[in-house]
Amino acid sequence: MRVKITLACTECKQRNYNTTKEKKNHPDRMETSKYCRFCKKHTLHKETK
Ligand SMILES: [Zn+2]
Repeated sequence: MRVKITLACTECKQRNYNTTKEKKNHPDRMETSKYCRFCKKHTLHKETK
């Protein structure tokens, strides 16, 4: 069961990525390190509603 999620940079709060996740693998908020073009570096991105 895949659900659509939005990943937002935790440093500048920009929503940089739309992706999907497998809900049974990640029942809670997903956190992942991704490149933020606003911060110009890799930052922690968190799932938002
Ligand atoms: Zn950022």
